[in-house]
Amino acid sequence: MNDAIIMNNAHEWQQKASKLDQNDDLSTCKDLFELPANIVYLDGNSLGPMPIAAKLQAKEVVEQQWAQGLITSWNTHQWIDLPQQVGERIAPLLGAKKNQVISCDSISVNLFKLLSAAILANAPRKIVLSQKDNFPTDLYMVDGLSSLMGTEKVELVSLASDQILDFIAREGEHVSVLMLTHVNFRSGEIHNMQEITALAHSKGILTIWDLAHSAGIVPLELDECNVDFAVGCGYKYLNGGPGAPAFVYVNQRHLNTISQPLSGWMGHAAPFAFEHDYEASPNIKKMLCGTPNVISMSILHAALSIFERASIAQIRKKSMCMLAYVETLIDDQPSLSDLHLITPSNPDIRGSQLAYEHPKAYEICQALIAFGVIADFRAPNILRFGFAPLYLSFDDCFNALVILTNIMHGKVYEQAKYGLKHAVT
Ligand SMILES: *Cc1c(COP(=O)(O)O)cnc(C)c1O
Repeated sequence: MNDAIIMNNAHEWQQKASKLDQNDDLSTCKDLFELPANIVYLDGNSLGPMPIAAKLQAKEVVEQQWAQGLITSWNTHQWIDLPQQVGERIAPLLGAKKNQVISCDSISVNLFKLLSAAILANAPRKIVLSQKDNFPTDLYMVDGLSSLMGTEKVELVSLASDQILDFIAREGEHVSVLMLTHVNFRSGEIHNMQEITALAHSKGILTIWDLAHSAGIVPLELDECNVDFAVGCGYKYLNGGPGAPAFVYVNQRHLNTISQPLSGWMGHAAPFAFEHDYEASPNIKKMLCGTPNVISMSILHAALSIFERASIAQIRKKSMCMLAYVETLIDDQPSLSDLHLITPSNPDIRGSQLAYEHPKAYEICQALIAFGVIADFRAPNILRFGFAPLYLSFDDCFNALVILTNIMHGKVYEQAKYGLKHAVT
């Protein structure tokens, strides 16, 4: 590929980007991250980049707390309180009052706990209602629970997005749990949490919201919306590092009554009494199972300090502006006319990603990566760009789109090497 800029109106788009950057009140947040040079990272929705605070904490926890402190660090460095400490940093990002959020395990495992708890609480209702194109693990976890408990106790009904409300209106009194992902992982479409939760409650349905693509990037009001339960991810917009622990939210009103089946010792009312019988903790700690993953969780805790520097309102404002910039720039390019946007155009009902369909989406994504623009591919044919305002500038977006335009114009993605399949997309 030669270096000539193919982009239509390139000068205007570049000017526009620099003007937007000059007025960006989050521009200095980029310094809080360590990012490789000459890369535009549009995949923070899959794996957030490394905050410098996370690196320092990793060193501290390994070299000091573990190597020097050994087992005494459980007390001296409060390792034992990490799940709650992390929960307390996440709660304000969710619009949740204290003591309702805790960090542990993965989303999948936490969904298992919540689904079991909700099914038991709402028996004999058996239907778990969800969306057909929900993130697969969410649906798989319902399947697993259904095989364990029997289809007479748990039955998954997954419907197209536009059929869910109708189903609730018609069959709501048979539905036990409504489990939805707030921001769809492919299209980025946002469900109206307040309206849907209220409708579900009017039929006695419990709600579980998956916030994997919401936490740390879009405003959330879990308490205000009266949500029952939620889960979310530590390694996406919260930048907690690969495989960082997830989190669980349980609304205060359920904490006393629900029980979850992974009754490990860390969820016991008195783990170090080593009693024979299980007695669940009366508070959010009842969602814990085993020993916290101290190193990972310490890193996530440090990474979350960034949200003391930037509010979700500021992040959302910049994210909306960035999506508008990219969307209109792409619309202005004849060479990008084969990219078909599946993300809603209405800025109020989309998260922080733009997803485009193209039959060669995989190859285009590989070519972009080869030229330093990291996006991702989601089967079967989606090219997905995630925008994380904490470390991306408008100029970064401009540069990425110059490369995209060149790749598309020259059909660079047709080279055989970009068709090789990797295990992780
Ligand atoms: C990333 C993601 C997950 C990840 O689940 P884990 O069990 O933590 O790996 C779950 N749900 C959604 C919607 C996701 O985007």
